[in-house]
Amino acid sequence: MITQYNISHIYRSNSASEYKRKIWDTLSKRYSMIQFNQIDTHTLFDKSQLPFTLDKLPDSFSKFRRMVSDISIRAPLGKPPQLPNSCLTSKQNWQAVWNAQSLHSQLGEGQLFKGGSRAGKQHLRSYFQTKNASTYKETRNGLDGMDYSTKFSPWLSNGSISARQIIDDLHQYESKIESNESTYWIYFELLWREYFQWYAQSYRGKLFKFNGIKNTNPTTSFYPERFQKWCQGNTPYPIVNACMKQLNATGYMSNRGRQLVASCFVHELNLDWRYGAAYMEQQLIDYDVASNWGNWQYLAGVGADPRGHRRFDLEKQTQIYDPDRLFIKRWGGDQHLEQLDSRDTVDWPI
Ligand SMILES: Cc1cc2nc3c(=O)[nH]c(=O)nc-3n(C[C@H](O)[C@H](O)[C@H](O)COP(=O)(O)OP(=O)(O)OC[C@H]3O[C@@H](n4cnc5c(N)ncnc54)[C@H](O)[C@@H]3O)c2cc1C
Repeated sequence: MITQYNISHIYRSNSASEYKRKIWDTLSKRYSMIQFNQIDTHTLFDKSQLPFTLDKLPDSFSKFRRMVSDISIRAPLGKPPQLPNSCLTSKQNWQAVWNAQSLHSQLGEGQLFKGGSRAGKQHLRSYFQTKNASTYKETRNGLDGMDYSTKFSPWLSNGSISARQIIDDLHQYESKIESNESTYWIYFELLWREYFQWYAQSYRGKLFKFNGIKNTNPTTSFYPERFQKWCQGNTPYPIVNACMKQLNATGYMSNRGRQLVASCFVHELNLDWRYGAAYMEQQLIDYDVASNWGNWQYLAGVGADPRGHRRFDLEKQTQIYDPDRLFIKRWGGDQHLEQLDSRDTVDWPI
């Protein structure tokens, strides 16, 4: 395309993905006559606004939050009045590219989320037309349904909506409808996302290392059968099974669910966390390299968690978040409870 269309400038949204960075570096070396520009559109802040360089990223979320709390978040840019003429801007051509990739045909009927920027903005508008933001902090740990959390993540992950657009709408809601601890908490969660974005850019390849950003390896290993049972939702833990079946059927899982299945993966099944992260990378409709691998590292005790150990008591969590076991029943979490096969229990390390 560079030679065919006589390209002079290339822009990209700055991304935490190592693969994309490598491609970008290779291209910018190979085509030195072209201007390569990276813009921070995936994050709330521009890199230049951060009060530290990336090699001095605060080692915990709390420190990060305190340091960035005063940074003003730039308003999102409006729509460009028109795009410059190019052979790729006519609707027909994009349609052809889209059809050729036939991505849309892989999406089944009745999916939870409709893709694209228009649908994302529509969802953003509808969310703030309800009063859900005013109770977000109390409801956000739900397991099932569309209303307990914002469901912004699928559109955020691929740039159909931006974190800045969300903050803009949130501020409008706060000034016109209500500002309380719950509305603040939406910003607070977006700051978690923000932390993981800069974390991934700071640690780069370490995001995928078994020992993460620590010096010692975890004492977990790889047991193929256990891994398969976890993926299919056939472990001895009904709440985990229900979450995994929900993920497999819809591509989405609640934040609480993700914490429980990841804790089970590492602490009950003693599995190497990277396989769990890779499975979620494959299944999640809102997959985001920084949020996924950063959260997994955190739960596996090899990331930015000062406590270093997050083991959830799955029975207790079930009593709190699914006391009547309705979620478990709905997703058939108690249907194929399989004990861990003794052949699975290989002494560590293998
Ligand atoms: C093991 C594990 C893997 C995860 N993988 C991903 C992933 O691939 N992509 C992804 O977007 N999120 C990931 N998360 C974070 C979180 O679970 C989802 O962002 C959230 O469930 C999405 O639903 P929502 O938009 O309704 O969230 P809400 O609760 O409404 O939160 C609003 C927004 O805040 C951000 N946010 C909330 N919690 C977190 C968090 N813990 N870390 C980072 N950002 C957060 C998200 O952008 C989210 O859209 C993961 C969490 C865990 C524990």
